[in-house]
Amino acid sequence: MQRLRINLNGTVQGVGFRPFVFRIANELSLSGFVLNDTTGVIIEVEGKKPSLDLFLKKLHTEKPPLAHIYYEELEYLPPSGYNGFSIKESSSEHPPEAFILPDIATCGECERELLDPSDRRYRYPFINCTNCGPRFTIIKKLPYDRPNTTMSGFIMCRDCKREYNDPLNRRFHAQPNACDLCGPEVFLADRNGRVLSRKESALSDTARLLSDGKIIALKGIGGFHLICNALDEEAVNTLRQRKRRSQKPFAVMFRDLDMIREYAEPTILEESMIMSPARPIVLVKRKTTLLEAASPGLKKIGVFLPYSPLHILILNSIDFPIVATSGNISDEPIVKENDEGLERLKGLTDLFLLHNRPIERRCDDSVVKEVGGAPQIIRRSRGYVPLPIKLPFKLKRPVLAVGGHEKNTISIGFDDRIITSQHIGDMETPESIDNFESIIEDLSSIYRFEPEIVIHDLHPDYITTKWARKRFHDK
Ligand SMILES: [Zn+2]
Ligand SMILES: [Zn+2]
Repeated sequence: MQRLRINLNGTVQGVGFRPFVFRIANELSLSGFVLNDTTGVIIEVEGKKPSLDLFLKKLHTEKPPLAHIYYEELEYLPPSGYNGFSIKESSSEHPPEAFILPDIATCGECERELLDPSDRRYRYPFINCTNCGPRFTIIKKLPYDRPNTTMSGFIMCRDCKREYNDPLNRRFHAQPNACDLCGPEVFLADRNGRVLSRKESALSDTARLLSDGKIIALKGIGGFHLICNALDEEAVNTLRQRKRRSQKPFAVMFRDLDMIREYAEPTILEESMIMSPARPIVLVKRKTTLLEAASPGLKKIGVFLPYSPLHILILNSIDFPIVATSGNISDEPIVKENDEGLERLKGLTDLFLLHNRPIERRCDDSVVKEVGGAPQIIRRSRGYVPLPIKLPFKLKRPVLAVGGHEKNTISIGFDDRIITSQHIGDMETPESIDNFESIIEDLSSIYRFEPEIVIHDLHPDYITTKWARKRFHDK
């Protein structure tokens, strides 16, 4: 008999990793425990050496699809006589190091349940599981447990609780787990914030209003979209005037890949990028003049698929693609909360489709294109952030890089990794500068990061340069 202690670091929280460990430990009749820790996951298994070896092998070969192990530390110890295998409560003694997952598009299983009239979550706009759903935009702090997310205000009903506590269930410790009885809900409001309809009626009203050529501000995962019928030239042009974007192209969201193929000619690689769990906007060749209003004078168009259950439900109740552009006034950050939306998007939209799950941090859609046969990320944001970029060496001191003036992002570097922020945008407005500062604060607090070195552009007039100098050189 031996006891094996395993320290894992990587994207191992919120991806169904503990139930998976529970299952394979039981299969191999190993006793011990698994624990989510701020540094990742700690496992102790006790049993005969061949079973321990097999356990290690399964850990790598059978792990859940979204789990990535970046670092593994093994320690063989004398047995301590565990009775059975258990999932222990999280501890938070150490500084947080676990990787936070990005927001992941609705998985195939959840989408099937969403559209299955016999499922208890039929047409529930916030369905999710350990393989999909919001992460980065709902986490307040680590470790990733429900009380530390914006779902903390929703008390699970009996059925949801049962799934959440069942190690063999796909929703075991799925932190945003919810249903129509206990979870967040959608509602349609007019420009003054007066609620017009809720839940199912709000969804059918939205479909009808889109068909009527209305513009709707939709609160999604990382903020608001302004949406309208992409084939309705008048609606698109009205949106363009209101957004004061006379020429810039709008991204278009389609129900499915087949619908994209009716209007555009994606290559095989582009199709795989469109279908990837990040569900980015992908720039593809336009096929028809039907989408001229969305992409005036351009051969390419930004297309993407619905990535949240709410988007899926809307696209499934209409028979046309929709323009889905960031809900913001030119150059300002994307709007994320209901009150903020009602105030700042009032002049841009006809109606609001809102929900009551708070968004902890804003995160724009990502944009990708194919260059020379490989995907190139033009805007790395929702679906990718905050996955770290791993360095082949260890940084001696923590580094903050404040980015340039246009299309800004910031990065923090510590140990052997760099975490690049979500899209911040052009540093042109006071709101953008506030957003830039709050993102630096946010990443610093979540990773308990304190920079010792700051990297900025040499351009003396960049706001980021001035900010870095003021903040650090003067000290
Ligand atoms: Zn799912
Ligand atoms: Zn429930």
